[in-house]
Amino acid sequence: MGEILDTIALRPEAGLGGRAEPSLGTRFLVFPQPPYVSGYEKPEVVWLTPAAGRILAGPSDDRMYVIDPVEPKQPYAFPVLPPYSGSVRAPAEPGPDGHFDHIVPGMPAFLSAHSYACARRVLDVCEGYVGRRIRWFFEPTIARLEIVPRILDFDNAQSGFGFLELGESEPTRTASSFALNFDSVAHEMGHLVLLSELGLLLGDGRGTDFFAYHEAVADFVSLLGLLHFDTAIDRILRRTNGNLLINNELDRFAELSDERQIRSFSNSLRQRDVSDEVHDRSKPFAAGLFDCVVEIYQTLLFDRGLSEIDPRLYSNLRRQMASDLIETSLSETRADYEPRHFASKAALQEARDIVGESLVRSWAYLEPDGLTFETAANAFLDTAQTGRARPYVTQLEDCMKWREIIL
Ligand SMILES: [Zn+2]
Repeated sequence: MGEILDTIALRPEAGLGGRAEPSLGTRFLVFPQPPYVSGYEKPEVVWLTPAAGRILAGPSDDRMYVIDPVEPKQPYAFPVLPPYSGSVRAPAEPGPDGHFDHIVPGMPAFLSAHSYACARRVLDVCEGYVGRRIRWFFEPTIARLEIVPRILDFDNAQSGFGFLELGESEPTRTASSFALNFDSVAHEMGHLVLLSELGLLLGDGRGTDFFAYHEAVADFVSLLGLLHFDTAIDRILRRTNGNLLINNELDRFAELSDERQIRSFSNSLRQRDVSDEVHDRSKPFAAGLFDCVVEIYQTLLFDRGLSEIDPRLYSNLRRQMASDLIETSLSETRADYEPRHFASKAALQEARDIVGESLVRSWAYLEPDGLTFETAANAFLDTAQTGRARPYVTQLEDCMKWREIIL
């Protein structure tokens, strides 16, 4: 027995012989949450779409590249735009196999490799949803996105015409660098991808929800990105014993979650509860999209015999408070949940993709200058109707109605 196992274990090693496997993509190390968040101290191996050998030193590919300036650089502001012309530090170099996962936290090139991997990962996810290449809104004036992983004395992350720049929230601590924060990079990428697919305003946006919708989408894209990490999806499901419906409805994610993306969507805000400030105004729609993910996830669980709760019977849970149901499901233990973990994980990944796809594909039907949350929700529901979200459209509609996005 031992001999057979040894032979099997050795075979892949022997077969590889150090050769690169170009068709599989390129490996990087990414922190799904900043490394100071409990449970996320170790980065995860992520495969990016470009084949090994296609991502060059920088990192740099045909869509984006990283430069790390030597001199303190001012954040870009019109008319000063990429490409950066000053001197730059040594780039992150691929290993002999074409991969970048030999660059580990603490190495000088890690911030460059990490910020590139976060940005590229989000582009890969969004292109997967839309089913084709996404052309940058700044093409052909600027051909590729420039990523600057380190801007001194800049307590922010910003993106714009051809650039994505990352500062530090506390300049003395590398761990506080926005380049280590997938959430921040993904949020900025959400803006860039939306501008590219939806288009730019011709007017000033007054009377529209263009800017608030941008914030909602950028936040939700960050959540979609987070839910592509095994570490995140495993932790979220195990912490809640797989019951996202009850946790979401009772706003229990806020206390149960280490992930900012989950915490920020766990609220019961409706349109009437928020001000006109864009970040505030974005919250009901973003949370409504999260409700949609939870709704489809719980439906898949019920249909597959993995849960007793049929969310279609409890669409008014927030008001009804079916307390015996809640008590029963909250009393479920880790031991009850564990045998269902992998099947639950598959359901959550499917729900994530069904909503992600409907959202990203809905942008083709929207006009920036006439955009309101209502038109955006209707485009989302119409797109859902034409794709694999079709069986859930009534439920998705209820989620948007509850948030007072549509009547
Ligand atoms: Zn934003």
